[in-house]
Amino acid sequence: MTPAVPVLMYHSVSPQPPAATRRLSVHPDAFAGQLAVLRRQGCTTPTFAELGDALRSGRPLPERSVVLTFDDGYADFHEYALPLLEAHGFTATVFVTTGWLDDAGSDAAGRPLDRMLSWAQVRDLAGAGIEIGAHSHSHAQLDQIAAPALEEELRRSKLLLEGELGQPVESLAYPFGYSSARVRAAVADGGYRFAAAVGNRLPGPGGDLMAVPRLTVRRTTGEAAFTRTVQGEGIARRFAVDRALTRGWAAVRRGRYAVNRVRGRV
Ligand SMILES: [Zn+2]
Repeated sequence: MTPAVPVLMYHSVSPQPPAATRRLSVHPDAFAGQLAVLRRQGCTTPTFAELGDALRSGRPLPERSVVLTFDDGYADFHEYALPLLEAHGFTATVFVTTGWLDDAGSDAAGRPLDRMLSWAQVRDLAGAGIEIGAHSHSHAQLDQIAAPALEEELRRSKLLLEGELGQPVESLAYPFGYSSARVRAAVADGGYRFAAAVGNRLPGPGGDLMAVPRLTVRRTTGEAAFTRTVQGEGIARRFAVDRALTRGWAAVRRGRYAVNRVRGRV
C-alpha cells in the first residue's frame, strides 16, 4: 500500500508578488530552502498523475514521496521555480488556467491576478518533465455555475492544453478548491482521471480520486513547520483551522447554489 503522500499546494514563487497573490506566494529563497529540506529528507517528487495512478492501482510510490503542485500558471514558475526544481532533479505539476495565459488571445477569459505563463513557456515546462494539468478555463467557481457552463470550463481548458502539448491532460485542480459531488462527476465525465482539492489533510487509501486533498504552503510557512509537514507529522493539528474553514464554507456554498438554482439564476 502507498503510504500517505503529502501533496503540497503552491501558487506563485516570487520575491515581490502583488497584493492579490501575496499571502499564497512563496519567496524564491524560502522555496529553495524547502527543496533543500526535501533533498535532505531523501524525498522524491512524483507528479500528481503519478500519485493518482499509484492510488488507483495500489502500486506503491517510492518511500518519502512528496507531490509539488502549483495552481493558476504564474509566469514566475518558469522564472524562479523551474530552475530550482531542475537543480535538485525534482519535478512538479502546474495547473494552468488557460483563459488567463499571457498570450491567450481570442481565448482570453477571466481576470488574471499577476503576469501569467505564455503558451511557449507552458510547452517548455512540459518538455522539462513538468506535468501540466488544467485549472478550468476562466478560473470560475465551478460549484456555482450551471451544467453547460461547467462542462465548457472543463472541456475548453483540456482541449486547448492537449492541442498545444500534443499529450493527454489527465489532472485538474478546482479553482479556489471549490467542488461538489455534481462538479466531481462532471470532471470525471469530462475525461479527467484525477482532481486536486484543498482539504488540508493527507490523501488516504480508497479516497476519492476526484478530490485528492492538498496541503497549503503560504508565505508564512516556516522551514520547521514545512519539515514536519513533509514528514507527515502534526498535520491534523497544524491544518485544523484551514480544514474547519473549508468544511464550513462548502456547506454555505452548497446552500447558495441551491437557492440560486431555485430562483433560476444559474
Ligand atoms: Zn487558482
